[in-house]
Amino acid sequence: MDLNYPPEAEAFRTEVRAWLEENLPAGWGAPGHSMTADERASFSAEWTKRLADGGWICASWPAEYGGRGLSLMDSVVLNEEFARLNAPMRADFFGDTLVGPTILKWGTEEQKQYFLPKILSGEISWCQGFSEPDSGSDLASLKTRAGLDGDEWIINGQKVWTTQAQYADYVFLLARTNPEAPRHQGISYLLVPMRQEGIHVRPIAQVDGSAEFNEVFFTNARCPKDNVVGGVNNGWAVAMDTLGFERGTSATTGHRRFQKELDSIIAAAQRNGKSKDPLVRQGLAQAWSKVKIMQINGLRTLTSALNNDHSTTALGAMNKMYWSEYHRDTMNLAIDILGMEGQILTGGRASGAEEDEGDTEFMPGIGIRHPRPGYPVSVTQASFFFSRSETIWGGTAQIQRNIVGERVLGLPKEPKPAG
Ligand SMILES: Cc1cc2nc3c(=O)[nH]c(=O)nc-3n(C[C@H](O)[C@H](O)[C@H](O)COP(=O)(O)OP(=O)(O)OC[C@H]3O[C@@H](n4cnc5c(N)ncnc54)[C@H](O)[C@@H]3O)c2cc1C
Repeated sequence: MDLNYPPEAEAFRTEVRAWLEENLPAGWGAPGHSMTADERASFSAEWTKRLADGGWICASWPAEYGGRGLSLMDSVVLNEEFARLNAPMRADFFGDTLVGPTILKWGTEEQKQYFLPKILSGEISWCQGFSEPDSGSDLASLKTRAGLDGDEWIINGQKVWTTQAQYADYVFLLARTNPEAPRHQGISYLLVPMRQEGIHVRPIAQVDGSAEFNEVFFTNARCPKDNVVGGVNNGWAVAMDTLGFERGTSATTGHRRFQKELDSIIAAAQRNGKSKDPLVRQGLAQAWSKVKIMQINGLRTLTSALNNDHSTTALGAMNKMYWSEYHRDTMNLAIDILGMEGQILTGGRASGAEEDEGDTEFMPGIGIRHPRPGYPVSVTQASFFFSRSETIWGGTAQIQRNIVGERVLGLPKEPKPAG
């Protein structure tokens, strides 16, 4: 395996690095660097504009739709450089990485012209309306229906787990548009405005006080007839692409956040003496090895994607299963290392000026989460709670195993219900 990137990619890396050095605040990333809440707010506002001016938002999109037409290799380099310095990529996760690329691939010219600039500018934020109370892993059993009434689709049904629905302007959802057709063939992919009478959003509060996902009820909700992506009753194929984007992002950068977090867990073990416990040492050594395996598997996935060798999807499934289970186990270990301290609320949010607003943080793969003000979980505790969900969202670990079993190992296909 040749681990060197081609010279053109390295030249591009130099360009990105120089831009970041010039544009990030002085001292960014240095030990002890911190910002007040006000500084952070003004940085976030200004940063989005700088990213847009620099052309770094959705830079892999074609230039005609506001991107830079970056190759896969250059996109990887861009992600790596931002991840190296922990520089925030502006992210409406659902717009930038899921529905945007889906519209690029499947949308009509009118949909591209209307939605893509608004995704780039952040004018429209999104949520994903796939899962329903009885349809998660078995998504094709979904029951939400849409029927045409003149120039509009009328939508009735319920979605659940809908992350950021309470903040979103639009939902990209799957609805059954031909109930008579076999179940994979009667589904359409619709772009539906959230702020309307027929949509009711009910946030679900979690144990750490945050409520980043919701139940969403549709009662004669409406969207224009033309807001169907990829053709009426063709939504299953379109949705499979969206899910592929969801599982496939950040192959070569994902390990960095785990390494950083592991470094802080090791430091905590050294501080409280748990690093002398042989079982803790073993657990930490295992975690360290797994982060290295993730790094190498990321390069393997990149090689597969560059060679277009058709194993990229299976590698994506394997990576999702591997990192999510790694993270769940490592956060269990982290809480064990903290001992009693891990059980009490030691986070900073209870004490300070940010209480009224609530702090926000970016969780890769999910987006911005808004913890409940006054409930001071620490960063480690928040990560521990959140890690419980990571083997579920974006396809459960068991479903990823099915994909690996069937597509990589060639095992017999799982029996499926008829239809
Ligand atoms: C934090 C979070 C955020 C989410 N955000 C969104 C969102 O924004 N939009 C959205 O549409 N959805 C979202 N989801 C939903 C997510 O996609 C589903 O939870 C997931 O697909 C699993 O579906 P389910 O919860 O219905 O579980 P089920 O499908 O009922 O599964 C229950 C258990 O059975 C196992 N199982 C099911 N089928 C099989 C099988 N064939 N073989 C082996 N084991 C199987 C599963 O692995 C699981 O352990 C989110 C979920 C979480 C936890």
